[in-house]
Amino acid sequence: RIVYVNGEWMPEADAKISVFDRGFQFADSIYEITAVLGGKLIDYHGHAQRLSRSLTALGIPVPVSEEHMLALHRQAIARNGVEEGLVYLQVSRGVQDRDFMFGADLSPTFVIFTQSKKVLDNPKWKTGISVITMPDGRWVNRQIKTVQLLYSSLAKMEAAKAGADDAIFIEDGFITEASSSNVHIVTREGTLITRQLSNALLHGITRGSILDLARQAGVPVEERRFTLDEARNAAEIFITSATAFVMPVVRLDGEPVGEGVPGPVSGRFLQLYIQDRIATAI
Ligand code: PMP
Repeated sequence: RIVYVNGEWMPEADAKISVFDRGFQFADSIYEITAVLGGKLIDYHGHAQRLSRSLTALGIPVPVSEEHMLALHRQAIARNGVEEGLVYLQVSRGVQDRDFMFGADLSPTFVIFTQSKKVLDNPKWKTGISVITMPDGRWVNRQIKTVQLLYSSLAKMEAAKAGADDAIFIEDGFITEASSSNVHIVTREGTLITRQLSNALLHGITRGSILDLARQAGVPVEERRFTLDEARNAAEIFITSATAFVMPVVRLDGEPVGEGVPGPVSGRFLQLYIQDRIATAI
């Protein structure tokens, strides 16, 4: 693969980051992932805006202009011939001799790489996934998309050990989100419930798109936090993320969700999302 590091494109084997990079030593770093279909970026503007918000929240300068950022995404796709997959982008505060305190004048480390992989026709869309619940042990500023992914990574390993596909996190009896996606439920009356935006969860771009599509389709929507019990009694549960789109959850802590198979509302949202986002890809 050809990757981008601080203004230059190079073969991945030649790419180097300092051992003194604060991203490496302090997870002082943010990232974004945008899906690619047909060589085009899905929901790009949402991801670009969240990237700026994450950087601003940490006081890391935005490394390039908006136009240049989009151009770099397109170059990454073109240089690697990506038809289907994703563009990964990471910005750290930069390099400095190890110290908890950081200076004001660091130049950010800026990396982009791509992954070519199948995004459409995910076989799990047909079967749904199983999840287990665990306490949300992450830091409290989850709206910032930092690379502090250790808790989520361990949670996914735990889930796999328990024979499940993923973990969803519980705080004070309420679901926050899943290890790398947002969680939504559909009540037996057909209302879509998703947790309101706050620092308790990442403001998922796919989440926002699904809410727009739900409102356009006349589906009743409630943005509020919901309990694990509400999820247990829901007709459907699904998770959303940039690369899994809309993924039905069919087992929760070993118990079937609704009929125990992917439900019609999740299926409809998945279709709507794919149609709409392919049409608006750039
Ligand atoms: N929550 C968490 C913790 C995530 O890591 C992700 C995926 N990056 C999401 C939600 C979903 O966000 P998006 O739809 O923007 O991919």
